Amino acid sequence: MPIVNRIADFHADMAAWRRDLHAHPETAFEETRTAARVAELLESFGITVERGVAKTGVIGTLEGDAPASRAIALRADMDALHIHEKNSFEHVSRNAGRMHACGHDGHTTMLLGAARYLAETRNFAGTIHFIFQPAEENEGGARVMGEEGVLARHPVEAVYGMHNWPGLAAGQFAIRPGPMMAAFDIFEITVSGRGAHAAMPHLGIDPIVAAAQIVTGLQTITSRNTDPLQGVVVSVTQIHGGDTWNVIPDEVVLRGTTRAFELTVRDAIEPAIRRVAEGAAAALGATVAVRYERRYPPTVNSAAETETAARVAAELVGAENVRRDLLPSMGAEDFAWFLEKKPGAYIWIGNGDADTGAMLHNPHYDFNDEILPLGASYWVRLAERVLAK
Ligand SMILES: [Zn+2]
Ligand SMILES: [Zn+2]
Repeated sequence: MPIVNRIADFHADMAAWRRDLHAHPETAFEETRTAARVAELLESFGITVERGVAKTGVIGTLEGDAPASRAIALRADMDALHIHEKNSFEHVSRNAGRMHACGHDGHTTMLLGAARYLAETRNFAGTIHFIFQPAEENEGGARVMGEEGVLARHPVEAVYGMHNWPGLAAGQFAIRPGPMMAAFDIFEITVSGRGAHAAMPHLGIDPIVAAAQIVTGLQTITSRNTDPLQGVVVSVTQIHGGDTWNVIPDEVVLRGTTRAFELTVRDAIEPAIRRVAEGAAAALGATVAVRYERRYPPTVNSAAETETAARVAAELVGAENVRRDLLPSMGAEDFAWFLEKKPGAYIWIGNGDADTGAMLHNPHYDFNDEILPLGASYWVRLAERVLAK
């Protein structure tokens, strides 16, 4: 794997940082130990550090050895998940119920490795902002950074992100222009009927039957209401109702998530859910209250920055190992908030075989330490190319 030699020299350091972070996972906006560790390392490299951004975020700022008004941002995420880790290796999570199952420990480490090298060499013109954001999972740490005016305070011409991808071979990258990850929204439908003795259903209004029809009806949003060439997902993921064998309950609560790439498709989902839920409930005499919450926009790569990122990756691993043919993922990523404001590119780095490793968010997952120098080398070469002297 052709990587920057100096970065290969401190592979062992990076693996140690990564395993330490893995052993001490912290979830959304509680990444205090992680942030302190990141800030301490950045300062030890001689990088200017801003703490407490979006509560637990850290930004490092480094000037190149040639003056220029140009600037870019490189971003890593630091948060873990609410998962009970099932691995047994030595760096297993010490925080019960919390786990780095999405590899953000690796992302943080790769960007730290790049920061160390770039601070040593400063072979670029302008400014690099290393953004270590909190709360990528669910809680929108990038959105909060945007609300705090991070990109207004640090004007950049482009912002770049990277995520490991199990199932993509170690030593490969994947990237595409346009949507890379989907928009992510959530919904909750409260179905109200009238409770009754289960032996006398005609005396009540059964919210369970109404909820069942709603779940079935929601399937038609993707199959009958959306252009078949447009990607969309409507998944019901929770059904809560009833307490015992012989009582028809008053109420059932359904919850789920939706995904789409195109904004027009996304805009059509909420009214469709309301129409199906209200119609199906009304047909049975029940009523519904629908809550729909927009979470993350789609992650959309800009064309020029995608080409730059792909070229840099190809210089490291060869064009044949930069996959341009992968379909986008219906997963979501709050890096999307940065890409809503600035041009940029989000790339996947192969984490290796998903059968021997594990998929993201799996209790057996672990970041592949072998790819740390490659990821750090990508960041370094990207920064040096974009901010070439
Ligand atoms: Zn994740
Ligand atoms: Zn992730």
